[in-house]
Amino acid sequence: MIKDISGLHHVTSMAGDAAENNTFFTDTLGLRRVKKTVNFDSPETYHLYYGDEVGTPGSVMTYFPFANMSKGRRGTGEVATTEFAVPKGALAFWQDRLGNRGVTGLNKTSFLGENRLQFDGPDGDGFALVEADTKGRTPWTGTDVPEDAGILGFHGARFALRDAAATGELLGFMGYQRDEADGNVIRYRMENGNGADTIDLEELPSAHTAGQGAGSVHHIAFAVDDRATQLEVRKALMDTGYQVTPVIDRDYFWAIYFRTPGGILFEVATNEPGFDRDEDTKHLGEALKLPDRYEPHRAQIEALLPKLSS
Ligand code: ZN
Repeated sequence: MIKDISGLHHVTSMAGDAAENNTFFTDTLGLRRVKKTVNFDSPETYHLYYGDEVGTPGSVMTYFPFANMSKGRRGTGEVATTEFAVPKGALAFWQDRLGNRGVTGLNKTSFLGENRLQFDGPDGDGFALVEADTKGRTPWTGTDVPEDAGILGFHGARFALRDAAATGELLGFMGYQRDEADGNVIRYRMENGNGADTIDLEELPSAHTAGQGAGSVHHIAFAVDDRATQLEVRKALMDTGYQVTPVIDRDYFWAIYFRTPGGILFEVATNEPGFDRDEDTKHLGEALKLPDRYEPHRAQIEALLPKLSS
């Protein structure tokens, strides 16, 4: 069994309009944009990262915005809900704020004793705010969201699956412990994790398969400390029969990817080197950062990218 995963690292989704996406996460949700860069395989497309002050692993929501992408079709084989943690008692503030801003899909529920507020992202993305223990995490405070209501990072994620058994077994292998269930949803929890600790598996045997598009999660990444640990995790997964990519340099972390039995793409990403490797913490996310190979084409790339509000 793998013992070195500490919870989620980041969640990466696709969006339609880049400016709308940027405004939603930085203004409406009050996250900090911690990096403005491009898709490393397609540099005319942004890769935008939103998180806490420094983009702590377990807090980072990232997007590839494609201007004319049609919306995804919700179904099985995908991350159905990405969940952010907020301090206890904060949901009333968020219900007002999101309602006043015309956010759709607002629905206050509870699951396994936790209060949740579900809402839709700008492209119909499935999100929820969950009241949780702060676990020493702090929100980004450079926003009008009060500190006692601010988003603390991820709480976890909910997967929609036709059959949850194989994914549950994989999560167990990755160090998650099976926790309580409610109806057709089974919770897995990372003990002593980074705060982004829960994965809920919702089994929907007769639902159709999801189709990816704007508002769909592209992949979900789990955190390991460093590159040496990542190589051990890669070997353990491959010894168990998973086809895992070679290690890929993503400038702010190192990544490996593998497709899981339920259809969801998993990544294992390193906590090193982090988002401050190429800009000062004080100015994180402000300037367009390009990987070295695209630096000679900066002028053309900047001309193609849509303008974002700061
Ligand atoms: Zn990723």
